[in-house]
Amino acid sequence: MSERFLVVVVDSPFETAEREQSILSRIGVKVQKFNCFNESQIIEAAGNADAILCDASPITRNVILNLHKATGIVEYGIGYDNIDVNAATERGIVVCNIPDFITSEVADHAVALILALARRLYLMLPSTRAGEWNWRKFRPINGLDKMTAGIIGFGNIGRQVARRLHAFQIEVIAYDPYIPFKTIETLGAKPATLEELLMASDIVSIHVPLTKETRHLIGKEEFALMKNSAILVNTSRGSVIDQEALLASLRNGRIGAAGLDVLQREPPEPGDPILAPGNVLVTPHIGWYSEQSSSRLQEYAALEAERILTGQIPRHPVNPEVLLKKRP
Ligand code: NAD
Repeated sequence: MSERFLVVVVDSPFETAEREQSILSRIGVKVQKFNCFNESQIIEAAGNADAILCDASPITRNVILNLHKATGIVEYGIGYDNIDVNAATERGIVVCNIPDFITSEVADHAVALILALARRLYLMLPSTRAGEWNWRKFRPINGLDKMTAGIIGFGNIGRQVARRLHAFQIEVIAYDPYIPFKTIETLGAKPATLEELLMASDIVSIHVPLTKETRHLIGKEEFALMKNSAILVNTSRGSVIDQEALLASLRNGRIGAAGLDVLQREPPEPGDPILAPGNVLVTPHIGWYSEQSSSRLQEYAALEAERILTGQIPRHPVNPEVLLKKRP
């Protein structure tokens, strides 16, 4: 079959786009894969694409104005804060994400960070490797079953984290102004304001999308409310936390420790000070990943592109008004 469509992968977490190509070949798509970092690279690569797939690259208004043929943009993942959705909507381009493929991986990762920090595993590895055998060095460690965990953002991932924490007999409270109290209670958590949550929690785990409203949601004033033994875990987006305020709070003992899968700048510059404190555990934005989720992600992104290109209704449009305009 001759190629009817061009799909450009502007960036992705994967080495190749062979899986996407094998799925999209059946409707006559040629897939081209790039590793674009900036606007001009994206425009050059994707200007004539019929649809684009992307991960973290900046799909800005300027990029969108220079997409001459694209009818859809598919984000490899849940968070689409790298895409100017308003600009896409104005141009009639549907933006889709893949919200349902990595929820349990991220929840597992958040809980892994919580456990590693609460049980201080991250300090034990270098110690035993150096030939020490001294449990006293790691005191005090508090029992998990007397702890309270505060979940900020009680969506898909936040709820899965809550389920896992219940198994440790940890009391869960949640702050999410967009979810009815009744729903939060039905899922076994106690609704709270942000202030109440920060003051009461031994563990704070963040699961909000990055939006104008959530940028620097946790800053100096919020750290001032937290327990000085508190463990803060962020697997959402780095910019939800004011990283300078976090660094100061970790250095001066305002909070106990932090587990971060996401940073304000990714990848961090060599020598980024956030990597240095002994009470911070950083992982390289890997919460989404398992072998299984990884292959699902490539498949789901390709299938979503196929739906867009063949005039079917995509599964997860984040700007469905574009589709309503085309097909009231
Ligand atoms: P979701 O949409 O199911 O849940 C997000 C929740 O946040 C919603 O319930 C929403 O009401 C709430 N929320 C929005 N604004 C809020 C605010 N100002 N204060 C409190 N709550 C607010 O999304 P999800 O699947 O749970 O994913 C959450 C985020 O995790 C994603 O947006 C993404 O940025 C991040 N993520 C990270 C990784 C990773 O690899 N580390 C992987 C996937 C997703």
